[in-house]
Amino acid sequence: MERKEVSIEYTWDLADIYPSDEAWEKEFAAVESEYAALDLAAYSGKLQDKATLLELFATTDGLFRRVEKLYSYAHLRRDEDMRQAKYSSYLSQVGLLISKIASALSFIEPELTAFDESVLQAFIADPDFVDYDYKLRKILQSKAHVLSEAEERILALAADPLQGFSDVFTMLDNANLNLPKAQLNGEETQMSHGLYGLVLHSGTKEERKEWFEKYYQAYINVIDVITQTYYGNVKQDVFYKTARKYGSCLEMALESEDVAPSVYENLLVAVNGALPTLHEYIKTRTKELGLGEQHMYDVYVPLVENADVKLPFNEAYKLVIKGLAPLGKDYAALLEKGLKERWIDVYETDGKRNGAYSAGVYDTHPYVLLNYQETTNEIFTIAHEMGHALHSYLSVGNQPYAKHGYTIFLAEIASTVNEVLLLKYMYGATEDEKLKKFLLNYYMDSIRATLFRQAQFAEFEQAAHEKAEAGEPLTKENLCQLYYGLNQKYFGDGIVHDSQIAYEWARIPHFYRSFYVYKYATGIVSAISIVKRILMEGQPAVDDYVEFLTSGCATDPVTILKRAGVDLTTQAPFETAMQEFEETLAEFKKLC
Ligand SMILES: [Zn+2]
Repeated sequence: MERKEVSIEYTWDLADIYPSDEAWEKEFAAVESEYAALDLAAYSGKLQDKATLLELFATTDGLFRRVEKLYSYAHLRRDEDMRQAKYSSYLSQVGLLISKIASALSFIEPELTAFDESVLQAFIADPDFVDYDYKLRKILQSKAHVLSEAEERILALAADPLQGFSDVFTMLDNANLNLPKAQLNGEETQMSHGLYGLVLHSGTKEERKEWFEKYYQAYINVIDVITQTYYGNVKQDVFYKTARKYGSCLEMALESEDVAPSVYENLLVAVNGALPTLHEYIKTRTKELGLGEQHMYDVYVPLVENADVKLPFNEAYKLVIKGLAPLGKDYAALLEKGLKERWIDVYETDGKRNGAYSAGVYDTHPYVLLNYQETTNEIFTIAHEMGHALHSYLSVGNQPYAKHGYTIFLAEIASTVNEVLLLKYMYGATEDEKLKKFLLNYYMDSIRATLFRQAQFAEFEQAAHEKAEAGEPLTKENLCQLYYGLNQKYFGDGIVHDSQIAYEWARIPHFYRSFYVYKYATGIVSAISIVKRILMEGQPAVDDYVEFLTSGCATDPVTILKRAGVDLTTQAPFETAMQEFEETLAEFKKLC
């Protein structure tokens, strides 16, 4: 379908950002020349003066606010039709400007970090710095790990040569892997990462087996290169941890996000305690799939064939509003507003970017890109993306520019809250047994993939880093042994642990952003806790949740979550999530 064939109410209204491309170009030229006229270097060395520092903060906020708006318009326009060169060129122009500004401002953090603690404390306590208190508190915290000027200079010089491991893996994984051909629907088909996922989800047993074996063989063929690349990446972490005097790589990663180590520990303790339920779930799958035995390549096959609720977009949106009714009238009104004000670009059109996302824009409202099809999954996608959108909308509306952007640690909570609420509503509203089973299976698979699988990865990363920190070299043998052992522990004895699965760690791109994946797990744990509280306690819990949604990055993420009644420094939310999984499995078995 071509874009111009879509009725206007199903397209987003980017005129809310700029009325025209000409307006964008005019603003870009204005920002560029105003930036060129600024003498940012003149601030350097003078930031101890309160008025100067405040002025610099205000100036840079003003600049970034305008540049981000330029960026948003360019990337949203580009995503409407990726074939248009015009907006790609807009995007690279803004990208260049952003990196110029960022590099001109790179003196600020080191200069602030070098201040005496008492100076920073005084600024933090000063009400004039209220928009920047959290930023300054983080700088104060990092002081303990900042080295002398000469040492910092060497670390800065080392940053570029040390960071190539992730690029090596990406190149290998995408350009040099030599995936072979395999049978699909009776034809020799070239394998790709995307097709592999599809075949493991909906291929025949023979196809899944063949694809699994051949896919892993491609990684096994280059396992020596991947081992050295991953080991290099871990050694890079160990280097910084040692240079900056952290207790461990994990501690360094968590401190950079201001998250207590107990959060990580609580996750792993709770997940390990709940593994018997995961084992039972795997056994239930084996029985339901009727396969006799389940292999690692059968894990992604859904237990219930698509029980699709086929609804036109407007009906689907109405269903989402009904499902999210427990969040109150104000939230429902915002959902209506988003639809009416055309925040959403609904349908797939020629050249449009695939997938779905929400993009916040500080000076207008958020925008949501969909490629809506009439399936149950896509109804959940609407709820998910509107969760992101309203989180952005409420944070933007209630926080100053410096504090509006929520961090990755909090980013998937609002979206998951919406999915879980909608799922529970749809489950309660239907008598259709097949749909009921489909929904429960959807929920269990989400928890398995987002909580258990990511916790398994988190355990692997932690153990690999601990080995390297203790001076033990990482080899293909000890990494595969470690991963295989974890796989046995997580999946239990209700599945065949095919030997290839020992190499799964070697194909996970996220491992090149160390200690990242645990955030998926804490996100779904938090969301489940929030939903349970809202359904049990009603309005007071909704009020707390809305406070969370309006908090942006006003302070550290764990404290912001406490506002919604979730304390990740305790076991409680983790236990709630595990119990939810157990209850969902029990409910599912009743329907079998
Ligand atoms: Zn999301």
